[in-house]
Amino acid sequence: MSFTDILLEGLAPDGGLYVPQSYPQLSLDDFNALGEILVNEGYARLAAQILALFIDDIPLWDLEGITRRAYTKEKFGTDLIAPVTKIERNLWLAQLSQGPTAAFKDMAMQVLGQFFDYELARRGTTMTILGATSGDTGSAAEFALLDASRVQVFMLSPLGRMTPFQRGQMYGINSPRIVNITVPGSFDDCQDLVKEVNSDAEFKSTYSIGAVNSINWARLVSQVVYYVSSWFQVTQGRGEVSFSVPSGNFGNICAGHVARMMGLPIKELVCATNENNVLAEFFRTGVYRVRASTETFVTSSPSMDISKASNFERFFYDLAGRDAAEIRHLFGEQLGHKGVIDIRKKPYAKDPYKVYGFRTGVSTHADRVETIADFYRRPGYLMDPHTADGVMVGRELAGEEPMIAMETALPVKFGSITKEAIGKVPEIPTRFAHVLDAPQHTVLCENGAEQLKKIIEQRSVFPPE
Ligand SMILES: *Cc1c(COP(=O)(O)O)cnc(C)c1O
Repeated sequence: MSFTDILLEGLAPDGGLYVPQSYPQLSLDDFNALGEILVNEGYARLAAQILALFIDDIPLWDLEGITRRAYTKEKFGTDLIAPVTKIERNLWLAQLSQGPTAAFKDMAMQVLGQFFDYELARRGTTMTILGATSGDTGSAAEFALLDASRVQVFMLSPLGRMTPFQRGQMYGINSPRIVNITVPGSFDDCQDLVKEVNSDAEFKSTYSIGAVNSINWARLVSQVVYYVSSWFQVTQGRGEVSFSVPSGNFGNICAGHVARMMGLPIKELVCATNENNVLAEFFRTGVYRVRASTETFVTSSPSMDISKASNFERFFYDLAGRDAAEIRHLFGEQLGHKGVIDIRKKPYAKDPYKVYGFRTGVSTHADRVETIADFYRRPGYLMDPHTADGVMVGRELAGEEPMIAMETALPVKFGSITKEAIGKVPEIPTRFAHVLDAPQHTVLCENGAEQLKKIIEQRSVFPPE
């Protein structure tokens, strides 16, 4: 399928995920040339160049416009868009959270919003986005789509599980095209509802339903760009690095996997989890056991409170030698019936984490508090709890090569753990001064997929097809 069809469709009709038929292969010289583009022409130009390798139906000229509008100094507060800062000997921080909603989700979502705007106008049509968020995706999507007049957003979030700042930011938006729906339960319950509505093919096509959650390929591929830019900023194009990535839905780190498959010199990808350690357990044991939502811990890094990583299948496809039948079997039958994928006896998985260069670690609430306090004391850097998960685990596993930890949010979103760590809540940057007092707008959905469909019918601003 062509790129823009996949962009608008999100999930494939059979419930599977889209992956490229092959990854573009780049040499070290190619990556250095991209690094020069970053230095001389900026992040937006770099993004257009990398996206062009994957996109078959948008001309480069238009792609440059799309990335130029997505990555502005106005939105990100810095010309560099995603600067990398050294915070300790051999430990670096890729600052991915400078965007409008103070989380790394903006890096992909801003581009996605521009893609939608561009493509829907080109096709003369409209679209309904149905998504689920554990906190940061929702606001990033809504802020990215607020100006996209051809898109309406229905965003599900778990009732009472987000921080006051996250709620203020999302629910504070007042537009008929942005509908926030709260669901009693966990993020996974929200995601299951989205899947259930999507499995109704007729409803899906009547309301032109698409997705912005991290399964959307366009979003994932946009994240490849900052792996390249971070690598170049740290190495000047010479030598390997490793990345430590606070993981939930396996989107961010999967983009790192794609970058490495393209040839970027990444030694190890460190998959850091919190107490919800499904991914860490897999990389240690070869057994992927998804948890029931009742087994999901509510933690102080809530955007990682995920027990079923929706992008994992993409990595698995490569792990299993790109065997689609095997993936259908594992993620369809096996996971569906038993809730477990056990690959210990599979020929392709003798030692998945060594073969694939993945390492893993788990951090706890106490680890996060300590890490936040530690870096606040010494380099004077205040990090958010998710970033702390990655920094803590990355620091532990760092080798000789530079370790780049991904900063995935700013502390302003997570006041209470910050207070616990350093004795005071983070200062609210002036651009977020009104977030906590804006009136909030939500709709409650407590009766499953049928009620959700009703809400969509009633609130839809575009005529059904
Ligand atoms: C979404 C999110 C994560 C997890 O990223 P995935 O791509 O889902 O693995 C980590 N930290 C923060 C702050 C997030 O918003």
